[in-house]
Amino acid sequence: MYDYAQGIKNQYMRSSAPISKVVYDDKIHIINNALGLHTHVSRVQGGKLKKKNEIRISSLFRKVPEPLLRMIVVHELAHLREKEHDKAFYNLCCHMEPEYHQLEFELRLYLCHRDRFGDLWIGQSFEVSV
Ligand SMILES: [Zn+2]
Repeated sequence: MYDYAQGIKNQYMRSSAPISKVVYDDKIHIINNALGLHTHVSRVQGGKLKKKNEIRISSLFRKVPEPLLRMIVVHELAHLREKEHDKAFYNLCCHMEPEYHQLEFELRLYLCHRDRFGDLWIGQSFEVSV
């Protein structure tokens, strides 16, 4: 997983500081707000600020197809440089993944579906139309 994220980073964000670590985290809250999709760690726990270049990905995403995982990694990588979900942030996302907006849309659909019906990927084949 680390190599995967690092690979994308090296390709598009060579100038930024290296990623220290990439981990799956069971405790991540998905904050799906109006501005964008958030997979960031809640800072409330222990009140400790997370390390700057650590990427945390919700364990929920272990099972998503590769294009969606890529979108999530791209999102988190972009946050290493841009903190807000502003234009510069999305420009950076689209620079790394031209289908970024489409993939984010599909991820939202997936999360909505999952809320209602449970895990979509188990025992079902699902193709991402990109
Ligand atoms: Zn974000």
